[in-house]
Amino acid sequence: MNTKDYIVDQLKKQLENFETVTQTEKVGTVVEVGDGVAKISGLSDAMASEMLDFGNGIFGVALNLEEGAVGAMILGAYEGIKEGDVVKSTGKILSVPVGDMMIGRVVSPLGEAIDGKGEIKSETYYPVEKVAPGVITRKSVSVPVQTGIKAIDAVIPVGRGQRELIIGDRQTGKTAVAIDAIINQKGQDLVCIYVAIGQKESKIARIVAELEKRGAMDHTIMVVAGASDPAAMSFISPYAGCAMGEYFLDKGKDVLIIYDDLSKHAWAYRQISLILRRPPGREAYPGDIFYLHSRLLERSARLNENYGGGSITALPIIETQAGDVSAYIPTNVISITDGQIYLETDLFYKGIRPALNVGLSVSRVGSAAQTKAMKKVAGKLRLDLAQFRELEAFAQFGSDLDENTRRQIERGRRTVEILKQDQYEPMAMQNQVAILYALTNGFLDDVAVERVKAWENDFHKYLKSNSKELLEMISEKKELSEDVVVSLEKAIKEFKETYQ
Ligand code: ATP
Ligand code: MG
Repeated sequence: MNTKDYIVDQLKKQLENFETVTQTEKVGTVVEVGDGVAKISGLSDAMASEMLDFGNGIFGVALNLEEGAVGAMILGAYEGIKEGDVVKSTGKILSVPVGDMMIGRVVSPLGEAIDGKGEIKSETYYPVEKVAPGVITRKSVSVPVQTGIKAIDAVIPVGRGQRELIIGDRQTGKTAVAIDAIINQKGQDLVCIYVAIGQKESKIARIVAELEKRGAMDHTIMVVAGASDPAAMSFISPYAGCAMGEYFLDKGKDVLIIYDDLSKHAWAYRQISLILRRPPGREAYPGDIFYLHSRLLERSARLNENYGGGSITALPIIETQAGDVSAYIPTNVISITDGQIYLETDLFYKGIRPALNVGLSVSRVGSAAQTKAMKKVAGKLRLDLAQFRELEAFAQFGSDLDENTRRQIERGRRTVEILKQDQYEPMAMQNQVAILYALTNGFLDDVAVERVKAWENDFHKYLKSNSKELLEMISEKKELSEDVVVSLEKAIKEFKETYQ
């Protein structure tokens, strides 16, 4: 064999043994870093939402997968990270600890305890990103979430598995509605998750204190990304909260989750995206913000019996500027929710609190999510309110009105009074039914408007001490059967006699 043949032969042998190994890079380097965001070259196989290890216990999440570079948010202290640092991909989607032990705790978006009550140990982790339950696993909404707020439970009921938006300008009582709904779940079967996104720490502390004082932390998880935390924390907090909820959903339980608020979530994402130099779209938000919010809210669902029968109800909150609901983020979120609770500054300052605009607020699930008893009184209530809104403008010409119109206006005024409700005073369904029955059946027509609130308070006190059985009956049967109506009317009449 001559030398040339020998070399060819050797080469052939080598080629036979040659295995094609796809070279995936597991290590990259930081090429740019700033404001909690890093650009990394060399991580060609990173997945979206994959955890990246920056060393020294600092992790990041791959966000922007481009050719040749990966954009990542850094979770935690990013000041120490500099150009040229080594970054490893972990092959894991960002996950958070989940489980029963989370209940009663205040945690960061990474599931770490921040309430000083000790470390949270969990064996189970859920990914923050998950594909929403498919259509065949779902069931239509028919069981109510009792918020304890009369105006909502009666007029715009929220059903389990629904996504109902709470929208309004700043300081209109948006958070108050959500917190009252949580407080009202005391002793019920709903697990509540409150996700505070980019709120001031002092505000969050006050909310935790109020919930604790009312024993509402016993069924609640608080997920907190404070205003002083990096934008990345605000960004992942709703997904982390949702993952914690999905644990209970998989156990067949019912969950109520509040995102307070998605406006700040969108700001956080805009900030991160601008630093990553992604092309800005409308109002400088990145183009996929709509997709991001819809993917999140799509994860709220009610599953059918074959899939455990659990549910996640979402109450996202959106802050508007000067009542403008046609801005980019509000229109987006309106279009991906099943209804809106509109809160208005004007009403708030007129003393109508909760400052709910009953005309504009809707629930596309409607009375399907009401008990029979509530359905009966709420139908009339809605009609009274609609007529009142139409006639309200004429109210100032009081004297020229015919008897019927005048009566409708008077009823409307009393209805508005009854729907006023103090903060931290959620009301049980049976009490709501009782007072709304009295109202819609004219028992308050002879009470002066300014006395209506006092009348209501005394009425509930009277029922509590004189009609316990009646209240229990409504609460159990959940319908206004003939015997219930008879004893309810009797109670109302007796109360009126003693009341003068
Ligand atoms: P922000 O825009 O700051 O988040 P918000 O819309 O969430 O505000 P809240 O913080 O819930 O509004 O409420 C604003 C103020 O109104 C608070 O001081 C709260 O105590 C008060 N408030 C809210 N609801 C009621 C109510 N039903 N009755 C009386 N006061 C209320
Ligand atoms: Mg608020």
